[in-house]
Amino acid sequence: MPEPSVVPLPDRPPFRLRARLISPLADGSTLNIDDGLVAVDAEGRIASVLGAGAANDADLAGTIDVRPWVVLPGLVDLHAHLPQVPNAGLGYGLTLLGWLDRLTFPTERSWADHALAERLAPAIFRAFAAAGTTTVLGYGVVYEPAMDAAFRAAEAHGIRAILGKVMMDRITYDATIDPSTIVSRSVAESRRLAERWHGAAGGRLGYAVSPRFAISCTAELLEASAALAAELGCWWQTHLAEDPAECDEVARLFPASRDYVDVYERAGGLGPRAVLAHAIHLSPSEEARVAAAGARIAHCPAANVFLAAGVMPLASRLAAGITVGLGSDVSGGPELSLFGVMRAGAYAQQARRALVDGEADRYGDALGPLDWLRLGTLDGARALGLADAIGSIEAGKEADLIVVDPGLTAALEDDAAADAALLADPELLVSRLIFRAHPEMVRAAWVRGRRLEGPS
Ligand SMILES: [Zn+2]
Repeated sequence: MPEPSVVPLPDRPPFRLRARLISPLADGSTLNIDDGLVAVDAEGRIASVLGAGAANDADLAGTIDVRPWVVLPGLVDLHAHLPQVPNAGLGYGLTLLGWLDRLTFPTERSWADHALAERLAPAIFRAFAAAGTTTVLGYGVVYEPAMDAAFRAAEAHGIRAILGKVMMDRITYDATIDPSTIVSRSVAESRRLAERWHGAAGGRLGYAVSPRFAISCTAELLEASAALAAELGCWWQTHLAEDPAECDEVARLFPASRDYVDVYERAGGLGPRAVLAHAIHLSPSEEARVAAAGARIAHCPAANVFLAAGVMPLASRLAAGITVGLGSDVSGGPELSLFGVMRAGAYAQQARRALVDGEADRYGDALGPLDWLRLGTLDGARALGLADAIGSIEAGKEADLIVVDPGLTAALEDDAAADAALLADPELLVSRLIFRAHPEMVRAAWVRGRRLEGPS
């Protein structure tokens, strides 16, 4: 494919892009405009979306033409661990609990030195933006100063970030704590961070109260964390039923609970502000109760196959009415790119359909490329309760956008015209972006019309 004639991309609003536009829409359909215009106003909102054929001279004046590049909604990563980004790709062959000990806890402990967090956090947000992620719901570490450093870096970078200090009062890597005060201290630190950062940068930053998971939290800490999130109107995130050994250990630690979901129900954590990572090994009753509570699932298929945790019955979760988005779970997952997560998810679900009796008959067609794109954009926004603001290319929404270069995904270099003709079908184009994702195909990313550092 030819390069766009005008390469300098806008750094701040207002601006108008002329490009191929593809986006999920709230009514379940897909916006696909071969030659489209998206206008971003001075406040960073999408002012209009239309086909260039319907545009008048005023619409076209000053337009930055990036064709044949494609503008998509920015990707929403519902589950990532910021300090683990340097470990991405390490640890294949380990299982969850061994991986935590060997790689994850030592890495997170290193952020006790908040100067290290200060140094790494800006590069971490640039890496998310380079992958096309414009919103990240992330876990940090147990240390308050390092979390302040992470929030400051997100504020300066421009990414949309909802972050939380990890809360753990057993099996923790923080050697400095006094067991008699750990719960009150963890809650107090989380409260201070939430008061400083929840809603900061005009609502671009948010706080998620983040008890790690039931193995590393007592019932007392879980309950206090849920109460804090409810009091402050923050999100509440944790891990649920990722790995069979984890589920066995939770059953041992919480003998009074009838199952894993019950541990979080008793804590008062489940509701529309709860984002539960993984949720692979659930009974039908647990699935129904997660759905009834309105809690959301961060589906992390790349991590789940990488750590041999299992394959979530995605079709069943969706049929139950649960809002599901995608998470990289770096570095349980090996890569930041949600396009890569979509690819892992598509392969894993196809394997489920082949191997699990009745799966294909019960749930109908497999998800297609546009369905996976929707999970990584608009459904992620819905999971966060932000679908009125982000997740699709629609007038009135905030301009969280990316532009991708599909030419980099072609297998042959010298047949650009034929390739462009093939990719006229949005299903085929997005299939290419998922199954032949190129590390540099995201050429730019904007949040509220402000360009993010990261994409090359
Ligand atoms: Zn995780």
